[in-house]
Amino acid sequence: MKQHIYADNAATTQLDKSVFEAMTPFILEEYGNASQLYSFARKPKKAIADSRAAIAECIGAFPEEIFFTSGGTEGDNWIIKSLAFSDTERRTMITSAFEHHAVLHSCDAIDRLGYPVIYMYPTEEGYITPENLKKNITDKSRLVSVMYANNEIGSIQPIQELCEVAHSYGVLFHTDAVQAVGHVKINVHELGIDFLSASAHKFNGPKGIGFIYARKGVQLCPYTDGGAQENGKRAGTENVASIVGMATALKSNYDDLEKNKKHILNLERRFIAQLNESKIIYKRNGGENTLPGIISLSFPGADGETIMHRMDLMGISISTGSACDSVNTEISHVLQAVKLDKTFAKGTVRISLGKNNTDDEIDKIAYSLIKILSQNKY
Ligand code: PLP
Repeated sequence: MKQHIYADNAATTQLDKSVFEAMTPFILEEYGNASQLYSFARKPKKAIADSRAAIAECIGAFPEEIFFTSGGTEGDNWIIKSLAFSDTERRTMITSAFEHHAVLHSCDAIDRLGYPVIYMYPTEEGYITPENLKKNITDKSRLVSVMYANNEIGSIQPIQELCEVAHSYGVLFHTDAVQAVGHVKINVHELGIDFLSASAHKFNGPKGIGFIYARKGVQLCPYTDGGAQENGKRAGTENVASIVGMATALKSNYDDLEKNKKHILNLERRFIAQLNESKIIYKRNGGENTLPGIISLSFPGADGETIMHRMDLMGISISTGSACDSVNTEISHVLQAVKLDKTFAKGTVRISLGKNNTDDEIDKIAYSLIKILSQNKY
Protein backbone atom coordinates (compact mmCIF):
# COMPACT_ATOMS: atom_id res chain seq x y z
CA MET A 1 0.00 0.00 0.00
CA LYS A 2 1.19 3.51 -0.86
CA GLN A 3 2.32 5.39 2.26
CA HIS A 4 -0.19 8.04 3.21
CA ILE A 5 1.10 11.35 4.56
CA TYR A 6 -1.36 13.39 6.57
CA ALA A 7 -0.68 17.13 6.61
CA ASP A 8 -4.11 18.54 7.36
CA ASN A 9 -3.96 18.68 11.14
CA ALA A 10 -5.92 21.94 11.28
CA ALA A 11 -8.89 20.02 9.82
CA THR A 12 -8.60 17.19 12.34
CA THR A 13 -5.93 15.18 14.13
CA GLN A 14 -5.13 11.53 14.72
CA LEU A 15 -6.55 10.11 17.94
CA ASP A 16 -3.78 9.26 20.42
CA LYS A 17 -3.60 5.53 21.23
CA SER A 18 -3.56 6.38 24.96
CA VAL A 19 -6.79 8.34 24.43
CA PHE A 20 -8.44 5.36 22.77
CA GLU A 21 -7.33 3.14 25.67
CA ALA A 22 -8.70 5.59 28.23
CA MET A 23 -12.05 5.69 26.42
CA THR A 24 -12.57 1.97 25.85
CA PRO A 25 -13.66 0.94 29.40
CA PHE A 26 -16.42 3.57 29.30
CA ILE A 27 -17.78 2.11 26.06
CA LEU A 28 -17.54 -1.58 26.88
CA GLU A 29 -17.71 -1.97 30.66
CA GLU A 30 -18.54 1.18 32.60
CA TYR A 31 -21.54 2.08 30.47
CA GLY A 32 -23.83 3.14 33.31
CA ASN A 33 -25.80 6.37 33.05
CA ALA A 34 -23.89 8.90 35.16
CA SER A 35 -27.14 10.50 36.35
CA GLN A 36 -28.36 7.38 38.16
CA LEU A 37 -28.00 6.98 41.90
CA TYR A 38 -26.93 3.33 42.08
CA SER A 39 -23.32 2.23 42.48
CA PHE A 40 -22.92 1.26 38.78
CA ALA A 41 -23.18 4.96 37.93
CA ARG A 42 -20.37 5.96 40.26
CA LYS A 43 -17.40 5.34 37.94
CA PRO A 44 -18.83 7.23 34.95
CA LYS A 45 -19.93 10.05 37.26
CA LYS A 46 -16.45 10.25 38.77
CA ALA A 47 -14.86 10.06 35.32
CA ILE A 48 -16.89 13.07 34.20
CA ALA A 49 -15.94 15.06 37.31
CA ASP A 50 -12.25 14.13 36.97
CA SER A 51 -12.26 15.03 33.27
CA ARG A 52 -13.89 18.38 33.97
CA ALA A 53 -11.26 19.13 36.63
CA ALA A 54 -8.40 18.04 34.35
CA ILE A 55 -9.63 20.21 31.47
CA ALA A 56 -10.13 23.17 33.81
CA GLU A 57 -6.59 22.79 35.12
CA CYS A 58 -5.15 22.71 31.58
CA ILE A 59 -6.64 26.13 30.74
CA GLY A 60 -6.49 27.79 34.18
CA ALA A 61 -10.24 27.62 34.89
CA PHE A 62 -12.43 26.31 37.72
CA PRO A 63 -14.13 22.96 37.03
CA GLU A 64 -17.59 24.55 37.34
CA GLU A 65 -16.66 26.90 34.49
CA ILE A 66 -16.36 24.01 32.00
CA PHE A 67 -19.42 22.76 30.06
CA PHE A 68 -19.22 19.84 27.64
CA THR A 69 -20.49 20.24 24.07
CA SER A 70 -20.48 18.23 20.86
CA GLY A 71 -17.57 20.30 19.48
CA GLY A 72 -16.52 23.74 18.37
CA THR A 73 -19.57 24.48 16.25
CA GLU A 74 -21.97 23.87 19.12
CA GLY A 75 -19.84 25.90 21.52
CA ASP A 76 -19.79 28.91 19.18
CA ASN A 77 -23.54 28.67 18.50
CA TRP A 78 -24.31 28.32 22.20
CA ILE A 79 -22.32 31.34 23.33
CA ILE A 80 -23.30 33.70 20.52
CA LYS A 81 -27.03 32.90 20.52
CA SER A 82 -27.31 32.66 24.29
CA LEU A 83 -25.68 36.06 24.72
CA ALA A 84 -27.64 37.77 21.95
CA PHE A 85 -31.02 36.66 23.22
CA SER A 86 -30.35 37.45 26.87
CA ASP A 87 -30.26 41.27 26.66
CA THR A 88 -32.79 43.44 24.87
CA GLU A 89 -30.91 46.70 25.53
CA ARG A 90 -27.39 45.76 24.42
CA ARG A 91 -28.22 43.97 21.19
CA THR A 92 -25.15 44.41 18.99
CA MET A 93 -22.54 41.72 18.42
CA ILE A 94 -19.02 42.43 17.21
CA THR A 95 -16.96 39.81 15.48
CA SER A 96 -14.34 39.57 12.74
CA ALA A 97 -14.90 38.91 9.05
CA PHE A 98 -12.50 35.97 9.05
CA GLU A 99 -14.04 33.84 11.82
CA HIS A 100 -14.93 30.21 11.21
CA HIS A 101 -18.39 29.69 9.73
CA ALA A 102 -19.55 28.32 13.10
CA VAL A 103 -19.28 31.91 14.35
CA LEU A 104 -20.20 33.73 11.13
CA HIS A 105 -23.34 31.70 10.49
CA SER A 106 -24.40 31.96 14.14
CA CYS A 107 -24.05 35.72 13.70
CA ASP A 108 -26.13 35.59 10.48
CA ALA A 109 -28.84 33.78 12.43
CA ILE A 110 -29.05 36.36 15.21
CA ASP A 111 -28.82 39.24 12.72
CA ARG A 112 -31.91 37.89 10.91
CA LEU A 113 -33.73 37.97 14.25
CA GLY A 114 -32.96 41.64 14.87
CA TYR A 115 -29.63 41.47 16.72
CA PRO A 116 -27.22 43.44 14.49
CA VAL A 117 -23.68 42.22 13.93
CA ILE A 118 -20.62 44.37 13.18
CA TYR A 119 -17.77 42.72 11.30
CA MET A 120 -14.20 43.95 11.85
CA TYR A 121 -11.70 43.41 9.04
CA PRO A 122 -8.23 42.05 9.87
CA THR A 123 -5.00 43.66 8.72
CA GLU A 124 -3.44 42.20 5.57
CA GLU A 125 -1.22 40.10 7.83
CA GLY A 126 -4.31 38.63 9.51
CA TYR A 127 -4.72 40.48 12.82
CA ILE A 128 -7.60 42.24 14.55
CA THR A 129 -6.09 45.17 16.40
CA PRO A 130 -7.40 46.73 19.65
CA GLU A 131 -7.67 50.06 17.73
CA ASN A 132 -10.01 48.39 15.23
CA LEU A 133 -12.19 47.14 18.09
CA LYS A 134 -12.20 50.60 19.74
CA LYS A 135 -13.60 52.05 16.49
CA ASN A 136 -16.47 49.58 16.43
CA ILE A 137 -17.47 49.04 20.05
CA THR A 138 -20.24 51.08 21.69
CA ASP A 139 -22.30 50.96 24.86
CA LYS A 140 -24.92 49.04 22.85
CA SER A 141 -22.52 46.14 22.22
CA ARG A 142 -23.32 42.87 23.94
CA LEU A 143 -20.49 40.52 23.00
CA VAL A 144 -17.18 40.65 21.17
CA SER A 145 -16.23 37.35 19.56
CA VAL A 146 -12.74 37.08 18.06
CA MET A 147 -11.03 33.77 17.32
CA TYR A 148 -7.84 32.90 19.18
CA ALA A 149 -6.06 31.80 16.02
CA ASN A 150 -7.29 31.68 12.45
CA ASN A 151 -7.85 28.20 11.07
CA GLU A 152 -6.65 28.96 7.53
CA ILE A 153 -3.68 31.24 8.01
CA GLY A 154 -2.84 30.54 11.67
CA SER A 155 -2.50 34.15 12.85
CA ILE A 156 -2.79 34.40 16.65
CA GLN A 157 -4.90 37.34 17.77
CA PRO A 158 -4.04 39.76 20.63
CA ILE A 159 -6.80 38.26 22.79
CA GLN A 160 -5.87 39.84 26.12
CA GLU A 161 -5.73 43.36 24.65
CA LEU A 162 -8.99 42.89 22.75
CA CYS A 163 -10.65 41.58 25.90
CA GLU A 164 -9.43 44.61 27.87
CA VAL A 165 -11.01 46.95 25.30
CA ALA A 166 -14.30 45.00 25.45
CA HIS A 167 -14.36 45.09 29.24
CA SER A 168 -13.60 48.81 29.35
CA TYR A 169 -16.98 49.26 27.59
CA GLY A 170 -18.70 46.74 29.87
CA VAL A 171 -18.90 44.25 26.99
CA LEU A 172 -18.38 40.50 27.36
CA PHE A 173 -15.65 38.70 25.39
CA HIS A 174 -15.65 35.29 23.67
CA THR A 175 -12.87 33.57 21.80
CA ASP A 176 -13.26 30.61 19.46
CA ALA A 177 -10.06 28.86 20.48
CA VAL A 178 -10.73 25.66 18.54
CA GLN A 179 -7.39 25.80 16.71
CA ALA A 180 -5.35 26.96 19.67
CA VAL A 181 -6.40 24.85 22.66
CA GLY A 182 -3.93 22.01 23.14
CA HIS A 183 -1.36 23.73 20.90
CA VAL A 184 -0.47 26.92 22.74
CA LYS A 185 -0.55 27.72 26.44
CA ILE A 186 -3.86 29.34 27.41
CA ASN A 187 -4.84 30.59 30.83
CA VAL A 188 -8.40 31.90 30.71
CA HIS A 189 -8.25 33.64 34.08
CA GLU A 190 -5.01 35.44 33.19
CA LEU A 191 -6.45 36.46 29.82
CA GLY A 192 -9.56 37.72 31.60
CA ILE A 193 -11.92 36.38 28.92
CA ASP A 194 -15.55 35.49 29.62
CA PHE A 195 -16.08 32.64 27.17
CA LEU A 196 -13.99 30.21 25.14
CA SER A 197 -14.92 27.33 22.85
CA ALA A 198 -12.77 24.29 22.07
CA SER A 199 -13.00 20.98 20.23
CA ALA A 200 -11.28 17.68 21.09
CA HIS A 201 -10.62 16.41 17.56
CA LYS A 202 -8.23 19.32 16.98
CA PHE A 203 -5.94 18.14 19.78
CA ASN A 204 -5.73 14.37 19.15
CA GLY A 205 -8.96 13.63 20.97
CA PRO A 206 -12.19 12.10 19.64
CA LYS A 207 -14.57 13.78 17.21
CA GLY A 208 -18.00 15.02 18.28
CA ILE A 209 -16.95 16.33 21.69
CA GLY A 210 -15.77 19.73 22.89
CA PHE A 211 -16.21 22.15 25.72
CA ILE A 212 -16.87 25.76 26.48
CA TYR A 213 -15.45 27.83 29.28
CA ALA A 214 -17.89 30.33 30.80
CA ARG A 215 -16.49 32.58 33.52
CA LYS A 216 -18.09 32.09 36.92
CA GLY A 217 -20.82 34.66 37.44
CA VAL A 218 -21.52 35.45 33.76
CA GLN A 219 -24.97 34.69 32.49
CA LEU A 220 -25.17 31.59 30.28
CA CYS A 221 -28.58 30.43 29.07
CA PRO A 222 -29.18 26.68 28.66
CA TYR A 223 -28.34 25.26 25.23
CA THR A 224 -30.72 22.33 25.51
CA ASP A 225 -33.63 21.96 27.92
CA GLY A 226 -34.37 18.65 29.60
CA GLY A 227 -32.42 16.84 32.30
CA ALA A 228 -30.12 18.40 34.86
CA GLN A 229 -26.82 17.51 33.17
CA GLU A 230 -24.13 20.18 32.89
CA ASN A 231 -25.60 22.10 35.78
CA GLY A 232 -28.92 22.36 33.93
CA LYS A 233 -27.27 24.16 30.99
CA ARG A 234 -27.01 21.32 28.48
CA ALA A 235 -29.50 18.55 29.01
CA GLY A 236 -28.83 15.06 27.62
CA THR A 237 -27.04 11.92 28.78
CA GLU A 238 -23.32 12.57 28.80
CA ASN A 239 -20.93 11.03 26.27
CA VAL A 240 -18.68 9.70 29.03
CA ALA A 241 -16.12 7.91 26.87
CA SER A 242 -15.58 10.96 24.68
CA ILE A 243 -15.38 13.29 27.68
CA VAL A 244 -12.70 11.04 29.19
CA GLY A 245 -10.93 10.90 25.80
CA MET A 246 -10.99 14.68 25.48
CA ALA A 247 -9.50 15.22 28.94
CA THR A 248 -6.81 12.58 28.35
CA ALA A 249 -5.87 14.12 24.99
CA LEU A 250 -5.75 17.66 26.35
CA LYS A 251 -3.64 16.72 29.34
CA SER A 252 -1.26 14.73 27.19
CA ASN A 253 -0.88 17.57 24.67
CA TYR A 254 -0.24 20.07 27.45
CA ASP A 255 2.22 17.76 29.23
CA ASP A 256 4.20 17.58 25.97
CA LEU A 257 3.48 21.12 24.77
CA GLU A 258 7.06 22.41 24.54
CA LYS A 259 8.36 19.17 23.04
CA ASN A 260 5.60 19.10 20.40
CA LYS A 261 6.03 22.78 19.61
CA LYS A 262 9.77 22.40 19.12
CA HIS A 263 9.26 19.35 16.91
CA ILE A 264 6.60 21.03 14.77
CA LEU A 265 8.61 24.24 14.39
CA ASN A 266 11.64 22.20 13.28
CA LEU A 267 9.48 20.48 10.67
CA GLU A 268 8.18 23.85 9.55
CA ARG A 269 11.69 25.26 9.15
CA ARG A 270 12.83 22.16 7.27
CA PHE A 271 9.94 22.52 4.85
CA ILE A 272 10.37 26.26 4.27
CA ALA A 273 14.12 25.84 3.72
CA GLN A 274 13.45 23.34 0.91
CA LEU A 275 10.82 25.58 -0.62
CA ASN A 276 13.19 28.57 -0.53
CA GLU A 277 15.96 26.52 -2.08
CA SER A 278 13.67 25.65 -5.01
CA LYS A 279 13.35 29.38 -5.85
CA ILE A 280 9.62 28.93 -6.38
CA ILE A 281 7.80 32.22 -5.84
CA TYR A 282 5.32 32.15 -2.97
CA LYS A 283 3.79 34.22 -0.21
CA ARG A 284 3.31 32.85 3.28
CA ASN A 285 0.08 34.13 4.82
CA GLY A 286 -0.57 34.92 8.46
CA GLY A 287 2.21 37.31 9.48
CA GLU A 288 4.75 36.85 12.26
CA ASN A 289 2.73 35.29 15.07
CA THR A 290 1.17 32.08 13.79
CA LEU A 291 0.22 28.74 15.31
CA PRO A 292 3.04 26.21 15.07
CA GLY A 293 2.49 24.01 12.02
CA ILE A 294 -0.08 26.03 10.09
CA ILE A 295 1.56 26.94 6.80
CA SER A 296 -0.66 28.84 4.38
CA LEU A 297 1.13 29.38 1.09
CA SER A 298 0.00 31.26 -1.99
CA PHE A 299 1.61 30.55 -5.34
CA PRO A 300 0.83 33.31 -7.87
CA GLY A 301 -0.92 32.05 -11.01
CA ALA A 302 -1.39 28.55 -9.62
CA ASP A 303 -4.62 26.77 -8.73
CA GLY A 304 -4.79 25.61 -5.10
CA GLU A 305 -7.42 22.99 -5.74
CA THR A 306 -5.43 21.35 -8.53
CA ILE A 307 -2.31 21.34 -6.34
CA MET A 308 -4.33 19.70 -3.56
CA HIS A 309 -5.63 16.97 -5.93
CA ARG A 310 -2.19 16.32 -7.38
CA MET A 311 -0.72 16.04 -3.88
CA ASP A 312 -3.56 13.65 -3.07
CA LEU A 313 -2.59 11.45 -6.04
CA MET A 314 0.91 11.36 -4.53
CA GLY A 315 -0.56 10.14 -1.23
CA ILE A 316 -0.41 13.45 0.63
CA SER A 317 -3.40 15.12 2.29
CA ILE A 318 -3.23 18.90 2.38
CA SER A 319 -5.99 21.47 2.14
CA THR A 320 -6.80 24.38 -0.13
CA GLY A 321 -8.15 26.45 2.73
CA SER A 322 -10.51 25.68 5.54
CA ALA A 323 -11.64 22.04 5.66
CA CYS A 324 -15.05 23.12 6.84
CA ASP A 325 -15.38 25.04 3.58
CA SER A 326 -14.55 22.32 1.06
CA VAL A 327 -17.91 22.67 -0.72
CA ASN A 328 -17.17 26.29 -1.49
CA THR A 329 -14.58 26.49 -4.25
CA GLU A 330 -14.60 30.29 -4.34
CA ILE A 331 -11.73 32.19 -2.77
CA SER A 332 -12.19 31.63 0.95
CA HIS A 333 -13.71 34.38 3.07
CA VAL A 334 -10.48 34.43 5.10
CA LEU A 335 -8.28 35.21 2.11
CA GLN A 336 -10.82 37.78 0.97
CA ALA A 337 -10.85 39.37 4.42
CA VAL A 338 -7.04 39.80 4.41
CA LYS A 339 -7.38 41.27 0.90
CA LEU A 340 -5.02 38.79 -0.70
CA ASP A 341 -4.59 39.52 -4.39
CA LYS A 342 -6.72 37.14 -6.53
CA THR A 343 -3.80 35.68 -8.47
CA PHE A 344 -2.22 34.66 -5.14
CA ALA A 345 -5.48 33.72 -3.41
CA LYS A 346 -6.50 31.20 -6.08
CA GLY A 347 -3.15 29.46 -5.71
CA THR A 348 -3.38 28.96 -1.96
CA VAL A 349 -2.84 25.72 -0.08
CA ARG A 350 -2.74 25.03 3.64
CA ILE A 351 -0.26 22.50 4.98
CA SER A 352 -0.91 21.89 8.65
CA LEU A 353 1.58 19.79 10.55
CA GLY A 354 1.05 17.86 13.75
CA LYS A 355 3.10 16.13 16.42
CA ASN A 356 3.01 12.82 14.51
CA ASN A 357 4.59 14.14 11.31
CA THR A 358 8.21 13.15 10.68
CA ASP A 359 11.25 14.66 8.91
CA ASP A 360 10.90 12.05 6.20
CA GLU A 361 7.29 13.06 5.59
CA ILE A 362 8.26 16.73 5.41
CA ASP A 363 10.88 15.97 2.78
CA LYS A 364 8.28 14.07 0.73
CA ILE A 365 5.75 16.90 1.07
CA ALA A 366 8.34 19.48 -0.01
CA TYR A 367 9.60 17.30 -2.88
CA SER A 368 6.07 16.64 -4.20
CA LEU A 369 4.92 20.24 -3.93
CA ILE A 370 8.06 21.58 -5.61
CA LYS A 371 7.72 18.97 -8.36
CA ILE A 372 4.10 19.98 -9.07
CA LEU A 373 4.90 23.68 -9.07
CA SER A 374 8.07 23.44 -11.12
CA GLN A 375 6.27 21.37 -13.77
CA ASN A 376 3.45 23.93 -13.77
CA LYS A 377 1.03 20.99 -13.34
CA TYR A 378 -1.84 22.87 -11.76
N1 PLP B 1 -13.89 27.06 14.93
C1 PLP B 1 -12.72 26.91 14.28
C2 PLP B 1 -11.70 28.01 14.34
C3 PLP B 1 -12.45 25.73 13.56
O1 PLP B 1 -11.29 25.60 12.93
C4 PLP B 1 -13.44 24.71 13.53
C5 PLP B 1 -13.21 23.49 12.73
O2 PLP B 1 -12.46 23.47 11.78
C6 PLP B 1 -14.63 24.91 14.24
C7 PLP B 1 -14.84 26.10 14.94
C8 PLP B 1 -15.68 23.85 14.29
O3 PLP B 1 -15.32 22.86 15.20
P1 PLP B 1 -16.02 21.41 15.18
O4 PLP B 1 -15.49 20.71 13.96
O5 PLP B 1 -15.56 20.75 16.43
O6 PLP B 1 -17.48 21.64 15.15
